Amino acid sequence: MEHYDAIVVGAGIAGCSVAYFLKEKGLKVLVVDRAGVAVAGGSAAAGAFVSPKIGKGSSLQKLTNEAFEFAKDFYKENFSEYFRQTGVVRIPKDEDDAKKFFEYEKYNSSSFRWIDSKRLKEIGIKDSKDSFLFEEAGVCDAPNICRAILDGIEYTQYNVKSLNYKNKMWYIGRYRAKNLILATGYENRFFDMRYMGVKGTWGSRGDYETKLNLEVSMHKSISISANIDGIVKVGATHTKEAHACLNCGTDPLKELFVKASKMVDTSDFKPKEIFCGMRSGSKDYFPLVGSVIDVSMMLREYPKLVKGERPKEEPKKIKNLYVINGLGGRGFVFAPLMGKILAENIVDAKLIDSRVNPDRLFLKWCRKSPELNR
Ligand SMILES: Cc1cc2nc3c(=O)[nH]c(=O)nc-3n(C[C@H](O)[C@H](O)[C@H](O)COP(=O)(O)OP(=O)(O)OC[C@H]3O[C@@H](n4cnc5c(N)ncnc54)[C@H](O)[C@@H]3O)c2cc1C
Repeated sequence: MEHYDAIVVGAGIAGCSVAYFLKEKGLKVLVVDRAGVAVAGGSAAAGAFVSPKIGKGSSLQKLTNEAFEFAKDFYKENFSEYFRQTGVVRIPKDEDDAKKFFEYEKYNSSSFRWIDSKRLKEIGIKDSKDSFLFEEAGVCDAPNICRAILDGIEYTQYNVKSLNYKNKMWYIGRYRAKNLILATGYENRFFDMRYMGVKGTWGSRGDYETKLNLEVSMHKSISISANIDGIVKVGATHTKEAHACLNCGTDPLKELFVKASKMVDTSDFKPKEIFCGMRSGSKDYFPLVGSVIDVSMMLREYPKLVKGERPKEEPKKIKNLYVINGLGGRGFVFAPLMGKILAENIVDAKLIDSRVNPDRLFLKWCRKSPELNR
């Protein structure tokens, strides 16, 4: 038996980030993944743009932008080789959207400036309304940044099929640890976590070889990266899908390429590689970070939960089991801050921010879920 303080299952950006902060706190950590480090799942497919969210100041926008501020500093200070601060232009989708930008302006908590259509044209962006430029935003090299984050942390390829807990230890094959963290993206077949409502959204993106001189990245209805070493990334499609890889079709990038051609000059774009993967989102689009409720025990001890009764005590948890998930379409924005929050909870017993604590979804699920008998 090899002994660790914590085992993280899943080596996407979520698993890598929490492993990093656990190691920083002195824990002996093992990361396992059935496929490799960011070679499957959402993290392999991601264009990995790291930019703030615009809008009218919703609580999700506020959290996203706190996470953005943290992520860009984290990547820049520690992994600058794999994070290019290209700047990201947010372009209105149409006339109506352009009007909304004046309302959005006061909720831009990250530094930005307006950029007019003349200047947009000079930098290679076609026919666009006045836009926001977030100069500190950028793009990660997803697989390489994940590998760099794991530098110095033990990693092994392992397909986890079952988990056992005995004598206050989690056992996975020949590995054991006090703490177990599931960072498995849209899949979980080990525990009843239906209350978290994790759902997958399938997506594709493409890398194109081009000589186009594009120094800045952009989001409109799709995203196009700056030209980095002769490659421009174009992403992404969104298809609600329970099973991976069913709906790629023969040309998943066709629709993206048409949109991209309206935004920049794609005349010399040569497709280099296609990436597909599943994003995992929660019911309310906020991340899921924290411990896991023992659902069957709660339903047994409090049979009236399904009728809306509130238990007098905190929900009972599965011992030393944690999740970091539900990062949606912004895994590279959320993961560093969420990883830090979870590491502080596990090691220092610091309370999880209630906005991301999965407990928030439990009682409503008990009351409303059609899967439960009432
Ligand atoms: C097309 C596309 C474009 C995107 N673009 C962006 C973007 O520009 N910016 C951004 O921030 N986000 C983007 N995202 C979202 C981002 O990719 C995800 O939010 C993020 O990758 C989620 O990371 P994760 O670590 O939670 O999950 P994943 O990356 O899915 O990792 C889960 C890992 O768990 C492993 N695993 C699962 N089950 C087991 C098991 N039983 N045993 C062992 N290993 C297991 C899998 O192999 C996988 O490696 C995009 C996503 C897609 C699909």
